[in-house]
Amino acid sequence: MSALSNRINNLAESATIKMAKLGRELAAKGVDVISLSFGEPDFHTPEYVKDAAKKAMDQNFTYYTPVSGYPDLRKAISDKLKAENNLDYDSSQIVVSTGAKQAIANAVLCLVNPGEEVIIPTPYWVSYSEVVKLAEGKSVFIDTTVEQDFKITPEQLEAAITPQSKLFMFSSPCNPTGSVYSKAELEGLAKVFEKHPEIYILSDEIYEHINFVDKHESIAQFESIKDRVIIINGFSKAFAMTGWRIGYTASNKEIAAACDKMQGQITSGTCSITQKAGVAAYEGGLESVIQMREQFRKRRDLVYSLLKDIEGITTNLPDGAFYFFPDVTAFFGKSYNGRTVKDADELSLYLLEEGHVATVGGDSFGDPKSIRISYAAAEDKLTEALRRIKDALGKLQ
Ligand code: PMP
Ligand code: GLU
Repeated sequence: MSALSNRINNLAESATIKMAKLGRELAAKGVDVISLSFGEPDFHTPEYVKDAAKKAMDQNFTYYTPVSGYPDLRKAISDKLKAENNLDYDSSQIVVSTGAKQAIANAVLCLVNPGEEVIIPTPYWVSYSEVVKLAEGKSVFIDTTVEQDFKITPEQLEAAITPQSKLFMFSSPCNPTGSVYSKAELEGLAKVFEKHPEIYILSDEIYEHINFVDKHESIAQFESIKDRVIIINGFSKAFAMTGWRIGYTASNKEIAAACDKMQGQITSGTCSITQKAGVAAYEGGLESVIQMREQFRKRRDLVYSLLKDIEGITTNLPDGAFYFFPDVTAFFGKSYNGRTVKDADELSLYLLEEGHVATVGGDSFGDPKSIRISYAAAEDKLTEALRRIKDALGKLQ
């Protein structure tokens, strides 16, 4: 019998991290693997951000920090929310954490009681449902399809609400589908929440700057519900700072104080040097962010044209983030070399072993019909990877 708690035994391993690990293991054996599994920009952190970190170290910013972050960082975040999003949050409403991942965990653990329902549109980012499990909440899924660009309607939301509903969780731009909700679409959802004042809304906006359609829209802009919105954001994607571990929540003061208390018992404030790098990132303007976004747009267009050329693949044109989430059901039940592909997870493994391209199966995103392809890789790698995928899929009979 396992000595481990039910809590950990029932928790699924992060599928994104697992596939990245499998890809690395195969590469260590000398196999030329192209990894399109991990959602991580391949760019370097901008120089001016790294310089600020070096300076912080030299100036001995090497001690414990206030749990919610240094005052200058929280002020920089508050200023950013005003300047870029026209949202008023003062510094006391910002809690800086060890990545947006921790910010999400803080918020869910602070809001959800055992048995309370958390409404999550599918497909969703892999960690959402697992954090709900840790809080002993109950995930209630709203299914979407590629035909509706993976976005829910107000009617679908209304139908999912019950007296037990506590929280709604979503990302826009979305990981894994790249879908972006327009202002009108968000307003439609906000109108439903107006009728249900007991429900909180976790709005994960970490891909805010990787948006190819328009300016970013936050559901927090609707004043009637703003007090119940918890914005999640961070630096990993916009500033290519995945290893620095810095993200944050912007919320009402009660939730901010709760997140501060939660993280004060678990991790304390995130790395002091990282925080100074974060201030520099936000004060340095958006030039590097825009350059990276343009690269992502080119790659999106490239991968779209290559995917369209593969028979059996159905995809939307993602408006943001850096993922495709194509429907691959046409390949289920097909075989090659005595191996039959039954579902998307098996197809993803087949692509890794037969095509040497790492992707992630859709099951952990709550959608077993698709695989996720991250295009945060150089164009020549993407072209070769899509050639391999087409080749491997073509062998399935
Ligand atoms: N939310 C979404 C939708 C993500 O894709 C990620 C990426 N890893 C995160 C949150 C967490 O980001 P991080 O912890 O690196 O700030
Ligand atoms: N969010 C990224 C992804 O979806 C990184 C992996 C992770 O943090 O789980 O691949």
